[in-house]
Amino acid sequence: MNTGTAYDLVVVGAGIIGLATAYTARQRGLRVAVVERHAQCIGASVRNFGLVAVTGQRRGEHWQRARRARAVWQQVAPQAGIGMLHTGLHLLAQRPEAAHLLEAFLQTEMGESCRLLGTAEAASTLPWLQAGHAVLHSPHECRVESRDALPRLARWLALEQGVSLFWNTPVIGIDLPHIHTSQGVLRANHCVVCPGHDLHTLYPQALAQAGIRLCSLQMLRVKPAQALQRPSAVMSDLSLVRYEGYAELPEAAPLRARLQTEQAAHLQHGVHLIAVPSADGSLLVGDSHVYGEAEAPFGRTELDELILGELHRVLRLPGAQVTERWTGTYASAQEPVFKQRVAPGVALGLVTGGTGASISFAFAEELLQLALDN
Ligand SMILES: Cc1cc2nc3c(=O)[nH]c(=O)nc-3n(C[C@H](O)[C@H](O)[C@H](O)COP(=O)(O)OP(=O)(O)OC[C@H]3O[C@@H](n4cnc5c(N)ncnc54)[C@H](O)[C@@H]3O)c2cc1C
Repeated sequence: MNTGTAYDLVVVGAGIIGLATAYTARQRGLRVAVVERHAQCIGASVRNFGLVAVTGQRRGEHWQRARRARAVWQQVAPQAGIGMLHTGLHLLAQRPEAAHLLEAFLQTEMGESCRLLGTAEAASTLPWLQAGHAVLHSPHECRVESRDALPRLARWLALEQGVSLFWNTPVIGIDLPHIHTSQGVLRANHCVVCPGHDLHTLYPQALAQAGIRLCSLQMLRVKPAQALQRPSAVMSDLSLVRYEGYAELPEAAPLRARLQTEQAAHLQHGVHLIAVPSADGSLLVGDSHVYGEAEAPFGRTELDELILGELHRVLRLPGAQVTERWTGTYASAQEPVFKQRVAPGVALGLVTGGTGASISFAFAEELLQLALDN
């Protein structure tokens, strides 16, 4: 570590929020360093679906963030050598109440460019989808393979965008212009702290006051006997009562009531279905949501079974095998993001829900502005 260099901005954390902030700052011509505790990004940003989701995000500001971030993803990905695996989302309405909710959703501004496929059209164009009452198609989503995309983004920022990256370097204190790390002291005029779900190292009091908790999710990779033709991201009824863009509409109430009787265990463990295809024909499948003060260290077979049961109710996947299982954790609160100017020149930012990949580049712009504001 060259502690003599002075930076305009030091970013703490090399997850997607930290890297997006570094990118945004370089676009403005700032001298930037990113400091990461681990040897590589191993947090939520590589454990996720890599789904940049617009449709279903909370109405208003958060939905706008996702639209903005998706546009930046589409500019950055080809430059950084990151493949966009597929675009779009299909959401299977398994019950009449879900189809009714989707019709109401399409009447809102969030339904722009989305449409409902009838059962005949769905059967002919999406042969791998089980029968239902309707299918929502949203063209807005895109997806990256996060475990590959994050290292590529970091490498591109370092090699081609002039960002200094310090790995294996926990930041232990910030007292501008000094950033105290395990390897020495960096100097910077501004700092953006993007600690993911580390609530205890930097500014623990601010995070405790915000009532932030942790949410642990179980994920699977499933390999079907034959790869699906032209697959996209897929969701189902359970997603309609989780994603606030749908769930906060009044028409969600009858669906929620029916799910309470028919899929109570899923609701209890926050299980809903997201399935996204990978380049090798396998699917990333999840997820469940367990909330607490600490990460849930042990995956529960029972939750995997709930996820897999829903997968097979939604997709035709003969001969499918589970090939990987992992857990991931993110910070969670009532509001979808937490941002605060914790000291002059220092912004602290966490995505407090499962939408960090989707809003990354837009949230990064907000955090940078917060740090730079006098
Ligand atoms: C299983 C799962 C699936 C998800 N799916 C999606 C999805 O498909 N779409 C979507 O939009 N969102 C999804 N999310 C949410 C999304 O992944 C997160 O919101 C996002 O990754 C958070 O990014 P981050 O950079 O804040 O955190 P992280 O990726 O956790 O990165 C934070 C980094 O900061 C480092 N750090 C912390 N403290 C310090 C310190 N003091 N010094 C140095 N380094 C430090 C950590 O080591 C870590 O590398 C999912 C999350 C999970 C867990």
